Amino acid sequence: MQTPFLQELAKLIGENNILIDPADQKKYVCDWFGRASGSALAVAKPGNAEEIASIVKLSAKHHISIVPQGGNTGLVGGGLPDDSGQELVISLERINKIRSLDALGKTITVDAGVVLENLHNYAHEHGLEFPLTMGSQGSATVGGLLSTNAGGTAVLRYGNARDLCLGLEVITAEGEIWNGLRSLRKDNTGYDLRDIFIGAEGTLGIITGAVLKLVPLPKARLSALLSLDSPSLAIQLLEFVQTKANSQLTAFELISDTCLSLVDQYFPQFAYPFSTKVPYCILIEISDNESEEHAYTLLNAILEEAFEMNLITDAIIPQSLAQSKRFWEIREHIPLSQVEDGKNIKHDISLPISKIPEFIEEAKKIINKELPTARIIDFGHLGDGNLHYNVAAPSGENPDIFMKNKYLVNEWIHDLVNEMGGSISAEHGIGANKAQELIKYKTSTELNLMKKIKAGLDPHGIFNPKKILL
Ligand SMILES: Cc1cc2nc3c(=O)[nH]c(=O)nc-3n(C[C@H](O)[C@H](O)[C@H](O)COP(=O)(O)OP(=O)(O)OC[C@H]3O[C@@H](n4cnc5c(N)ncnc54)[C@H](O)[C@@H]3O)c2cc1C
Repeated sequence: MQTPFLQELAKLIGENNILIDPADQKKYVCDWFGRASGSALAVAKPGNAEEIASIVKLSAKHHISIVPQGGNTGLVGGGLPDDSGQELVISLERINKIRSLDALGKTITVDAGVVLENLHNYAHEHGLEFPLTMGSQGSATVGGLLSTNAGGTAVLRYGNARDLCLGLEVITAEGEIWNGLRSLRKDNTGYDLRDIFIGAEGTLGIITGAVLKLVPLPKARLSALLSLDSPSLAIQLLEFVQTKANSQLTAFELISDTCLSLVDQYFPQFAYPFSTKVPYCILIEISDNESEEHAYTLLNAILEEAFEMNLITDAIIPQSLAQSKRFWEIREHIPLSQVEDGKNIKHDISLPISKIPEFIEEAKKIINKELPTARIIDFGHLGDGNLHYNVAAPSGENPDIFMKNKYLVNEWIHDLVNEMGGSISAEHGIGANKAQELIKYKTSTELNLMKKIKAGLDPHGIFNPKKILL
């Protein structure tokens, strides 16, 4: 441990919990795609909130910036250090205990380093469910999910991370532990401190614990794949299914032909599910509190009517819950097949739901005009107006060379989103990657208010500098 800072850090949490060697740090300084990478002064792995509080005080004394990190599955570079080699990554992976579960009140209190899948399993053992689900749930942590206000596939029914959080424990810039672990559904006692830290991407404090809402575990969960001719029919289908199934509709995912083909190409075990090519399909999920049979009856009735109304052209109804899960595996393999396919220009956007068809049409016109052979790989949580709109190199062209178009394509897509009243980040956050663009798409009033909050809560700017705000 060479520097006085590292020596003092070792006294606080032990040498074994500090990674200095770049080879040991790799997992913490590279993103999920294995692309973006920074370089850290050290990676600290404290064991509890008190140790984090001490590290924050020590870092403030030595003017060392801190990058909080959970599962490092974030997709906008928010949890990565810059390339100065001067920032301290604080990983919460050792702070991972379930503290308590209140079955009657349907709440759970957890450490921030608890991995989402472990939280799911624990709640299931108690006949309950934490209804935030996404492809990264095997690694993403509660602290990361709250700090990015993550969404996922069930937002349509249960809301995003913010909607599922009742209380927080946070380490402040002064190295104090704010205990806001209240499990109240109503609490109007002034400014909502909890909501300030949710979605702050580690720029205002470090979340060390949370009280989360649980819901009863449904008796059955049934999915089906429905093909249709256009996004406009998908919106009509959404409206129809919402009327019929109401709160039993728990997911409504749009998947384009290009996504299904890509998964088929790179993961042939998930072959193209329809017998002929379809422009788009919907992965729908119905949850039922009575029985599997009851879920099937509802699903069949909905599909029968949807066919009669000419909303859908084909439907694959699962013969078992295992087949139902397989549809989700296809969905989860879209990002994985994109990794296999090489770099592409990504957008995580949201729009008023009714404007999605118009957006898809207009964006396609722009891309076709400027880059006629580029591939559009679009999918997303349509029920929330959230699209992952990716533009990839033409088949056979080197993706790395195609990436030279990145800034231009981002501008075309984000300008269009902005004109149509949408957001340039639906669920992944701003991080380092979109901080420059935020300046263009937020008003000066919004930016000034955000800067005042940052200056008030982190006056010396030690928490995650150059993330969200430049
Ligand atoms: C395959 C795949 C699928 C995904 N699907 C979705 C999806 O459907 N919906 C969605 O919203 N996201 C999705 N994501 C993005 C990602 O999983 C989420 O953003 C997730 O919330 C990140 O959690 P994490 O623990 O990995 O956080 P990290 O990546 O470690 O960090 C993310 C941000 O939170 C900050 N942070 C982390 N922990 C703390 C803490 N304890 N206190 C303060 N700040 C902290 C970091 O500094 C960083 O800014 C996906 C990612 C992958 C790889």
